Amino acid sequence: MAVNSSRDTVDVQHVPLCRPSITETEIAAATEAMRSGWLAHGAFNQRFEEAFSQLTGAPHAISLNSCTSALELALKAHGIGGEVVTPSFTWVATANAIVTSGATPHFCEIDPATRNVTAETVAAAITPRTEAVIVVHYGGQPCQMDGIVELCSRHGLLLIEDSAETLGATWQERSVGSFGIGCFSFFPTKNITTGEGGMFTCFDAGTEQRARAIASHGIASTTLARERAERPWLRAAERAGHNYRLSNVLAAIGFEQLKRLPEMNRRRCELAERYDQRIAEFDAMVETPAVAPGATHVYQTYSVRIPANRRDGVLARMRREGIGASVHFDPPVHKQPYYLSRRDPRTDLQATESLCSSLISLPLFPEMTLQEQDRVLDSLHGALTRVVT
Ligand SMILES: *Cc1c(COP(=O)(O)O)cnc(C)c1O
Repeated sequence: MAVNSSRDTVDVQHVPLCRPSITETEIAAATEAMRSGWLAHGAFNQRFEEAFSQLTGAPHAISLNSCTSALELALKAHGIGGEVVTPSFTWVATANAIVTSGATPHFCEIDPATRNVTAETVAAAITPRTEAVIVVHYGGQPCQMDGIVELCSRHGLLLIEDSAETLGATWQERSVGSFGIGCFSFFPTKNITTGEGGMFTCFDAGTEQRARAIASHGIASTTLARERAERPWLRAAERAGHNYRLSNVLAAIGFEQLKRLPEMNRRRCELAERYDQRIAEFDAMVETPAVAPGATHVYQTYSVRIPANRRDGVLARMRREGIGASVHFDPPVHKQPYYLSRRDPRTDLQATESLCSSLISLPLFPEMTLQEQDRVLDSLHGALTRVVT
């Protein structure tokens, strides 16, 4: 049962882009963590990490304060300082993590149909200075990983998956975050939430140890592990690290949210399917998301394409009607002020730019009612028929 029956209290007219689903189970777990007296990284982190490993099939998982931290750790744990190929069609955090860890982003194109990078678009951006690739699984759909995995291993490149938007999704029955280093987000708009939070997944024990140390002041052991050791007061900093840890209280929330992931993702998929059907009925001008064979989609975002010259008008009108429609993402990262200031002359991303100018994200969240969805559909339909360029 939902704690805050916000459906009754919130203005009936307003349909938000997203509403996190928090139940008594999460509240009970957070309370238990607080009552335990152990508030920093602790027992719930271990349970959350173990459950995450099980789900993704990656043997190591590290709970963190954000996905951005996970991306940075992935690069720093491998000393990446050269070029990193990544799409410009992503949240700015993907590129920021490259810059803040001392490397240089080299933006590649996406396939406008799936909105994801492909082995071909990544290959076109590889140079002798390339050291790593960060793919972004956009909006809930994994990239087509076989070609990308093969490409990275052929060129000896580190493969990182920005899986912030795809928890629970698979490519050929394998979970995202198990092809390369996985980086997940628990921001409130993602498939599960801890308010703020993230997870790092990997196969290699050495990578895990280095990442854990960098996330924790450069000290390899955890407080909990040290408490069980003979001389818990000894704390050896092997490098200058950060503090990127997730608290035990938030890990408790994440642990409970993860149990509810299948149910929440199922609901996202049902609503997405209903959007697909209803939109197909009313307007040929709207392009709904295309799912590649081999991929499962978990619809963290439900974004449609409409003619670019009407996008802003349609969006403004929907928002005036109380529909929390938005855009993910515009501008693309290479058009953000900071990235314009360090513009790479090689950047020529026409598919990305045209995609960004024609997208609209429609409200979608597990507790969305069919009435709320109908209001979104009516508003979109109305705006499309009335807004001219
Ligand atoms: C949300 C998001 C991030 C950042 O996640 P945080 O946990 O907020 O740091 C990174 N990349 C993508 C693609 C995202 O959607």
